[in-house]
Amino acid sequence: MQGINKDRLTESLALMGQIGATANGGVYRLALTDEDRDARNLFREWCEDAGMTVRIDDFGNMYGRRAGSEDLPPVMLGSHLDSVPFGGRYDGPVGVLTALEVVRTLNDQGIVTKHPIDIVNWSNEEGARFLPGLFGSTAALGTRAAEEALNATDEAGCSFRDELVRIGYAGDKANRPTDARAYLEVHIEQGPVLEAEDYPVGLVRGIQGQFWREVTVKGRAGHAGANPMDSRADALVAASRMVLGIRELALQCAGYGVATVGKMSVAPGAMNIVPAKVDFTIDARCVLAEDLTMLENGVVDVVEQAAAAEGVTVEISGDESYPTILFDTEVMGMIREAMTAEGLPVRELWSGGGHDAGVAALQWPAGMIFVRSKDGLSHAEAEYSSPEDIAAAANVLLRAAVGLAG
Ligand SMILES: [Zn+2]
Repeated sequence: MQGINKDRLTESLALMGQIGATANGGVYRLALTDEDRDARNLFREWCEDAGMTVRIDDFGNMYGRRAGSEDLPPVMLGSHLDSVPFGGRYDGPVGVLTALEVVRTLNDQGIVTKHPIDIVNWSNEEGARFLPGLFGSTAALGTRAAEEALNATDEAGCSFRDELVRIGYAGDKANRPTDARAYLEVHIEQGPVLEAEDYPVGLVRGIQGQFWREVTVKGRAGHAGANPMDSRADALVAASRMVLGIRELALQCAGYGVATVGKMSVAPGAMNIVPAKVDFTIDARCVLAEDLTMLENGVVDVVEQAAAAEGVTVEISGDESYPTILFDTEVMGMIREAMTAEGLPVRELWSGGGHDAGVAALQWPAGMIFVRSKDGLSHAEAEYSSPEDIAAAANVLLRAAVGLAG
């Protein structure tokens, strides 16, 4: 079997990158906008040109099918074509278009697999327009209520359902995927590890577990000059202790663990008033189940102890927690073999971000291949992965997909 056509793949990525292109080389292609519709139309045209039939489900997820020689569940390959505001050209399209390149390559060589191959473009993966992320895959694979998804609205009050109809991508519930031999996704790493260690591609072990919380600290406002230090209930001083305590918790993880306070607001927010109220968010991620439990409980302890020490009150809200998802051993083995056959060194790593492959992994054997990201950048216009690295990942995908599809 010959490898994929790097020039064709590079050109397709460039063409896709023109849809919703920004002045600084990125894309602005939020889900179910006119730009997303144009990207979908182009993808559909390419699938049909490659001899595939395209199905659309009731969440607008698109599935291009290359028939197999036997009546078996498909091997699914894919990712997403939507972007965040001022996002990059690679996050998502790399997965969809390497999958398309696999099909084009099989067509060139007249190779017929036993299992069909389905290429999928999941709707609104980013969740940048309709919350939350992984929108299309979680709705179609039943981990999220269908009605709730269809009724979701964006900031302007437009519903997901209406916008799907408007762009012509409201499909049929019967087209949701029911079974798959395996699910494979190529995605940019979005982090610095592969570049730092000089690996073109990476074998993803799984998706880190994570949870989010929102914390409200209430103290007492007062004149910044007239209130002696020992008389204060300063919400920001208390919150600062909490932030440092949360960092310590992450450092105590037995395995890999990170915790981030990425958003904070201070009220009333004036130079000469003791802060009365602080709201902040916590995003914590780790690999081991014991660490997830430790972090969840630890956050409560840290926050309550700091509140008591500073004489303020505190409320923690949010209960979203997601356990670590492990990718399938057989699929990972297939990817590892493919990397070795391509002469690529194998570097295993965890995904710090959520991906549709993690949703698929709850139902089917799944795996992911990461592509090196320049400067670890993503969700930014300067996001970049080289044509050579993307082609290397596509060749790994080709071998692994053919291995799994027979
Ligand atoms: Zn993505």
